[in-house]
Amino acid sequence: DPRLSHLGQRMSRLSGVRAINKDIAETLQKGGSHWIDLGAGNPVILPGVEAMWRRYTQELMAEPEFGKVLCRYGVSQGYGPLLEAVVDYFNREYGWGITRRNVLITPGSQSFYFFAVNVFCGRDADGQRRTLLLPLIPDYTGYGGILIEESDLQAMPPTIEKQGSHTFKYRPDLDQLQVDKQVGAILFSRPCNPTGNVITDEEVAQIVQRAAAVDVPVIIDSAYAIPFPHLTYVPMNLTWAENVIHCFSLSKAGLPGERVGIAIGPEHLLQSVECFQANASIHSSQLGQAIAARAIRSGELAKLSEQVIRPHYHKKMEHLQAAFAREFPQELPWFLHKAEGALFAWLWLPDLPISDRELYQQLKQQGVVVVPGSPFFPGMDPSWSHQYQCVRISLTASVEQIEQGVAILSQVVEQAHSRT
Ligand code: PLP
Repeated sequence: DPRLSHLGQRMSRLSGVRAINKDIAETLQKGGSHWIDLGAGNPVILPGVEAMWRRYTQELMAEPEFGKVLCRYGVSQGYGPLLEAVVDYFNREYGWGITRRNVLITPGSQSFYFFAVNVFCGRDADGQRRTLLLPLIPDYTGYGGILIEESDLQAMPPTIEKQGSHTFKYRPDLDQLQVDKQVGAILFSRPCNPTGNVITDEEVAQIVQRAAAVDVPVIIDSAYAIPFPHLTYVPMNLTWAENVIHCFSLSKAGLPGERVGIAIGPEHLLQSVECFQANASIHSSQLGQAIAARAIRSGELAKLSEQVIRPHYHKKMEHLQAAFAREFPQELPWFLHKAEGALFAWLWLPDLPISDRELYQQLKQQGVVVVPGSPFFPGMDPSWSHQYQCVRISLTASVEQIEQGVAILSQVVEQAHSRT
């Protein structure tokens, strides 16, 4: 549309996986309930978790505070009792010594990334370009659409470590990682959507140190991390540093509809983002913030994350791995990413004769939906073949569906190999 601005044109395109999601949604609508949907990013509604959110909402409704929460504007930084609950919780559990000024609540963590990267990246006051550096891709496709200038994205391919005959792990290529003044911010998810990778504490420390040397902020997307939703299957730590912003989300802890993201970091980094948010959206929904305050203050959110949410997906992951071992031919080259966290499995098929998108199409014909891997490589040089050899498999389906889906996936992959 010629009436649209340059930015308008860019933002009217569906970025990365959202374009695929549209195709998936249309596909699923056509076939009724016959599909095996291993594509969904929407978390499972777990009974104990939903009951907790329901109870805190009912409690709130019975109090005079309810009117204030619903019928009054709040402050852009966030709803006071939630800021207090976050400060108390993180000081108690992690000894961070933070105050309210170190916390910013946004309508979901996605909007924090949008605000923050455009505060730190793009043209600076001297007209110099500052890039958003993704130190390891594949990573969350939502990062593909958050920069106002698309060309400001700089993404680094990982090193690949094979572990045993059918497992691998991505590592940030620290030999290649150079952080200089041209970098505006560094961003990565940990645990990672789509791979389930958890960059190690030492690797994080290296990245943070190199960024600190040139005064570059590091934004760590903790949408799947401890303490909530606690979707981690290996030990990991959260470390406070003067150039790090930790971003937590309640979306995978049962509250995606209410849009509550919690950023914790140095005050000077959060302040500009807070102003951006005030300009763009005033503040996040206070109903979500008010029930989140209660769930964090009581410790129940962290407890249910550890005792209900984490085991739910971990069990599914174990079934998926067993199904792969059972169904996939041992002699074929296939590798699952080491299961370290999040709610996905990531499959790499190095010698697959067809592309990830073709595999997606062929699987659809057999009634199975997965997510092709290539959209998870935003900013990647298109010539790197690895990006067309992976698919993401969601753990939100039932165990039976996961097992059936893996069996069909194995047949389709075998057929693709045997045709060449
Ligand atoms: N970051 C990652 C890695 C995600 O997977 C998602 C959602 O799927 C988000 C951020 C967005 O989360 P929110 O609902 O908090 O905006």
